Amino acid sequence: MTARLPMALGQGNPGVFISMLFSQLGLSAELLRAIADQGYEHATPIQEKAIPLVLAGDDVLAGAQTGTGKTAGFTLPLLQRLQSSPATGKRPMIRALILTPTRELAAQVGESVNNYGRYLPYRTSIIFGGVGINPQIAKLRRGVEIVVATPGRLLDHLQRGTINLSQVETLILDEADRMLDMGFINDIRKVMKSLPAKRQTLLFSATFSQEIKRLSKDLLNNPSLIEVARQNSAAESVTQVVYPVDRGRKLELLSHMIGANNWRQVLVFTRTKHGANWVSQQLQRNGLVSDAIHGNKSQNARTRALSDFKEGKVRVLVATDIAARGLDIEQLPHVINYELPDVPEDYVHRIGRTGRAGLEGKAISLVCIDEKKLLEDIQRVLKRKIDKVLIPGYEPDPNILPEPVRKRSNRRPTGNARPGGNRTGNGAGNRNGSSAGNRNGSSAGNRNGSSADNRNGSSAGNRNAPRRRAS
Ligand code: AMP
Repeated sequence: MTARLPMALGQGNPGVFISMLFSQLGLSAELLRAIADQGYEHATPIQEKAIPLVLAGDDVLAGAQTGTGKTAGFTLPLLQRLQSSPATGKRPMIRALILTPTRELAAQVGESVNNYGRYLPYRTSIIFGGVGINPQIAKLRRGVEIVVATPGRLLDHLQRGTINLSQVETLILDEADRMLDMGFINDIRKVMKSLPAKRQTLLFSATFSQEIKRLSKDLLNNPSLIEVARQNSAAESVTQVVYPVDRGRKLELLSHMIGANNWRQVLVFTRTKHGANWVSQQLQRNGLVSDAIHGNKSQNARTRALSDFKEGKVRVLVATDIAARGLDIEQLPHVINYELPDVPEDYVHRIGRTGRAGLEGKAISLVCIDEKKLLEDIQRVLKRKIDKVLIPGYEPDPNILPEPVRKRSNRRPTGNARPGGNRTGNGAGNRNGSSAGNRNGSSAGNRNGSSADNRNGSSAGNRNAPRRRAS
């Protein structure tokens, strides 16, 4: 249970916004009791705006990031609508469908539905891939009113004829922008064919691209628009900072920061799956309990890593963008971008993991010379500069030349590959924390930048230097 600040999330000046009490929003006694169990009293701005519209039966197009309380913003009125128009048939039918981009988000939304609906009789089925389909089929056969699903596995059920969506009254697309980014557009359109044309549709998206506008035009009927945060703006409660550092010293700096500050729960982002594995392995070697979470891991491994992280058994969780999308980790204080994302909007999503629900958070980006352009793109999207802070002893070497950043790929990982995929290697990760870890103890590796400094990562002499990736 979490008692949260009754403040205006996503508002420039939280002090000015007087938020409504949940008891003023016309919700049923069962829902108010479940909300009280969560320790919430005041609605967040998205909840205050969305709940009355959804209760009135409107289609809604909502601009809201994760961390604004949007899940309760659609779940509470959805449950209330089910409650106020009981189904007529004897057999339970699926009356609400919530689509999410990732398995983790589906699991979290499902958990919210169960939490808020704990005093109501509805059954929820959570459907995603990477786990056996038979238990899902069995549960659907027993009958559920609410389905939370990722598009791919849902389509699988539709094709097998193991799900019937013909009675769906409300469709919710959560994090629709992410679903499109992940290439789910065709799956979504196919799913739509199985839904009744007459229904309520709610679309939640952190950003509004042309593609999202097109999708909402096709799916929504005269929607009410709500927006609680500036488009693409980062959560206001997150302090953002850039630490310029050489590519070959990022790991050293990362370990140093976590250790020196005694941070106990840190989410680290890399661009690639192999990068996530590599950073996690190196942190382990440096004595920090760490795990990686990405799309090549089984669903069970992902779930375990996440719960270990939430419970404090894992101190550092290293994640790729897709795997981390939608993670709701309460009060996560630190997010570190080991590498900047290829897509600026992912930066916004990443830092949305911290500073949740009005709490303070810090997002740190370790930025090397190769990432200059990526940083500029992010600042353009944010419409502001992020403060740069030089960490004494880790100032970038001006002699190091930029190298191209390799784009995210879906290639299979090949052994001990490096994050970022720079051809000449990362060179970070030496255990003793000297800048280049030169085994022979020559002047190479001198942190102060002697010309022999192996800092730009040719891995010669570096004990832990990762092997070159076969390409
Ligand atoms: P969401 O944006 O839906 O992922 O929610 C972000 C976090 O805010 C979750 O941990 C919720 O449990 C929490 N939350 C949702 N509604 C409220 C509220 N009215 N007051 C305080 N915290 C909330």
